Amino acid sequence: MFLWRTEVRPGVSVAFTDSHAGNLALHVGDNPADVLQRRQALEHAAGLVPGSLRFMEQVHGTAVEMMEPDTPAPTADAMVSQGLPLAVMVADCIPAVLVGEAPGGPVLAAVHAGRPGIANGILLAAVGKMRAAGAANICAWLGPSICGSCYEVPAELRAEVAAQVPSTWSTTSWGTPALDLPAGARSQLEAAGVSVDYAGPCTLENEQLFSYRRSGTTGRLAGIVWSHE
Ligand SMILES: [Zn+2]
Repeated sequence: MFLWRTEVRPGVSVAFTDSHAGNLALHVGDNPADVLQRRQALEHAAGLVPGSLRFMEQVHGTAVEMMEPDTPAPTADAMVSQGLPLAVMVADCIPAVLVGEAPGGPVLAAVHAGRPGIANGILLAAVGKMRAAGAANICAWLGPSICGSCYEVPAELRAEVAAQVPSTWSTTSWGTPALDLPAGARSQLEAAGVSVDYAGPCTLENEQLFSYRRSGTTGRLAGIVWSHE
């Protein structure tokens, strides 16, 4: 079920699923009833109330949604909450989860950080929203994603993204232009005063993880963050 799971602060946990948790996305042609059943199994494994884990409609945009108990599933690529459990789904993009401290309790965020998101600053937008909600001492955990030695892109695209985020400039292990999204995420977060406490393995190189580049039609794994007693 979980590739990695840990209680990162007293009463706050972070986890990333592996392919044994199954596909968790409704938009990849899978049977919706099966997906909802897997999401329930994930909630059960995390000790969450069924239906409490919040998912978003991810569109590679820059919208960050502040989640309240009655907020419907947003069309966004980042969610921020004051304790509500959040999920982000990926297959090669970075599932980033963040936790900050605030007087009223932890402030949480889940961010879908793909190539457009890194280039357009989705992580920084989420950090800004967290700080607006009172968060300080923010830390980030970057889940499994395609690595800088595997993520081959056309030379023009590498130049375009690296012009925005220089640390993304990379070369594949076979010598062609590539982008290193985890390096880009780390440099953006650290420049914003956010420490990165974990970075997951490469999805393309790891058979127990979903990879869009490896498989084309594939499931989505999830990064989740939640507070608990
Ligand atoms: Zn790799």
